[in-house]
Amino acid sequence: MNIFERIIKGEVPSKKVLENEEFLAFHDINPKAPIHVLVIPKVCYKDFNEMPSDLLGRMSIFIIEVASILGIKDKGYRLITNVGIDGGQEIPHFHYHLLGGGKLRWDSLA
Ligand code: AMP
Repeated sequence: MNIFERIIKGEVPSKKVLENEEFLAFHDINPKAPIHVLVIPKVCYKDFNEMPSDLLGRMSIFIIEVASILGIKDKGYRLITNVGIDGGQEIPHFHYHLLGGGKLRWDSLA
């Protein structure tokens, strides 16, 4: 079981922002921006390549709600997903990184 599945089950603690039946948003343990939240589906898909389009559509609505709660919806934010080895993906459970809370440098994650 990957670490995100353990977070979903409540076996590993997390700082939750929002949750519904399908998705969970929680703060990244090693933030790369003033606000750095991870958004995951509760059903495990390895990466973006595997994600069903209908789930991605509902996830978009959820993410906008998370951005609104965090107060960055209108100021702006960055949404990133790493895929595979070259993408630098560490955890094989699809997730978006939602970053914001200040002006982000485009090279800050390179
Ligand atoms: P990625 O490299 O795209 O797979 O991103 C994995 C992210 O998960 C990294 O930004 C880690 O800091 C984050 N992470 C790992 N373990 C935890 C945890 N227990 N709670 C919150 N974030 C975590």
